[in-house]
Amino acid sequence: MTKPTTASGNRGLQLEQSLIFENDTPGMTAVDLPAAPKVTERLGGLKNTRAIGLPGLAEPDVVRHYTRLSQKNYSIDSGFYPLGSCTMKHNPRLNEKMARLPGFADIHPFQPLSTVQGGLELIDTCARWLKDLTGMAAVAMSPAAGAHGELCGLMCIKSAHEANGQGHRKTILVPESAHGTNPATAALCGYAVEAIPANAEGRVDVAALKAHLRPEIAAVMITNPNTCGLFERDCIEIAKVIHDAGAYFYMDGANYNAIVGRLRIADLGVDAMHINLHKTFSTPHGGGGPGAGPSVLSAKLAPFAPVPQVIKVGEGYDVEEHAGHGAATQSYGRMKGYHGQFGVFVRAVSYMMAMGIDGLRQASGDAVLNANYLLARLSEELTPAFDGPCMHECVFDDRFLKGTNVTTLDIAKALIDEGVHPPTMYFPLVVHGALLMEPTETESKATLDSFIESLLHLARKAKSGTAEAEFKAAPQFSPRRRLDETKAARKPVLRWTPDASNGAKQAAE
Ligand SMILES: *Cc1c(COP(=O)(O)O)cnc(C)c1O
Repeated sequence: MTKPTTASGNRGLQLEQSLIFENDTPGMTAVDLPAAPKVTERLGGLKNTRAIGLPGLAEPDVVRHYTRLSQKNYSIDSGFYPLGSCTMKHNPRLNEKMARLPGFADIHPFQPLSTVQGGLELIDTCARWLKDLTGMAAVAMSPAAGAHGELCGLMCIKSAHEANGQGHRKTILVPESAHGTNPATAALCGYAVEAIPANAEGRVDVAALKAHLRPEIAAVMITNPNTCGLFERDCIEIAKVIHDAGAYFYMDGANYNAIVGRLRIADLGVDAMHINLHKTFSTPHGGGGPGAGPSVLSAKLAPFAPVPQVIKVGEGYDVEEHAGHGAATQSYGRMKGYHGQFGVFVRAVSYMMAMGIDGLRQASGDAVLNANYLLARLSEELTPAFDGPCMHECVFDDRFLKGTNVTTLDIAKALIDEGVHPPTMYFPLVVHGALLMEPTETESKATLDSFIESLLHLARKAKSGTAEAEFKAAPQFSPRRRLDETKAARKPVLRWTPDASNGAKQAAE
């Protein structure tokens, strides 16, 4: 099927936008500057007489260029974004209003502590909520993202092992279904990584885990609820076998949105867990960041937490800046400048206070309900990867496409034509041709129904056996169609040069 062509290359009111450098009109400017006064040359022979390489454009062309680029962004504010394992939920505008209050927006980490007591109280309030919700002994607030929080937890674990004469423990166990950041963090922290298999139910195989536990295992990292959208119901037994083997239990808490307000993490026997404030606590993420990944810690790991640490002293607050001092005697050090992502803390606290503990509990319930609604209705045509209900996200495999020559990728591309951002594809790796969807609690039934109708329609069309060519041609209504993703990853063209202009265009295609 060929793309309908237009003389301009535009598609309806979606306008083509070339690179700003390709629109250069030499000598054109958006402002008229008076001629520079004559000055005595003081640069010796160093004066640069070459063109500086900036494009010349008139003001309306600059405005249109950047406005069109901004309109090419797809985001949670413009439409449904059913990525799995990401909790792309609505970011309440109240959070933004709070973050813009001058007392929060205009302070600086170098100010004398006596002038930022309110800011420190806010960090402490955020920390208190996270400790109350999880029941954990301490929380390190400085990690700047989920993966950074993982590193924080593993650094605490490494320090604890070293302090206890267990520095020979050099391996970390990670389930096959783990988020990619888990093995990456373990490797960055200097550990060897060993995979443990899932059972047919999509959960950690406890017998296999036991078989892998031995004296060189430092920790086990388990995502719960896991990336198959399932609660690890053997968690307490898993914690026990890990601890009996002298290792620590790291829980990846990025999926906390499914359980917040419903269980105390401490009761599962967890030693460290990061919380993605940009997922569960509705602060912006995904290119719109920055996020924050505070790491809650058990009493055994708390002494090793990174600095700086906000501490309550009488009625006020102080900050312990140095590892080796005061409460931070055993701290492993600092992992980030300043106190963490303060603007994100303000948004998260605003969300927590607006929701209340009961509201957070309702949110996790609604998130799970929405995912199960998708699971139930889509099961009419799609094939669920696992039996039974799911938590906050549902996974389908590609058995429903068997014999059609249509793939998971084709379905995802066809969804773009339907006006929906595709869900996560081909992840978790343990599910063949996976489609992983997390609707979150903030989508209405009407939005979910419209998504479901689109997906059911595509599944029926694929099974009809008459639409293969149409699927292979999708997306047809987007400004660009199938990009050569491998070439883009292997040979990225990141810099524009006048004579490479054609090459850059080809790479973008
Ligand atoms: C998002 C996510 C992470 C990583 O968090 P970032 O903030 O993106 O670094 C880790 N594990 C799981 C399960 C996630 O969903």
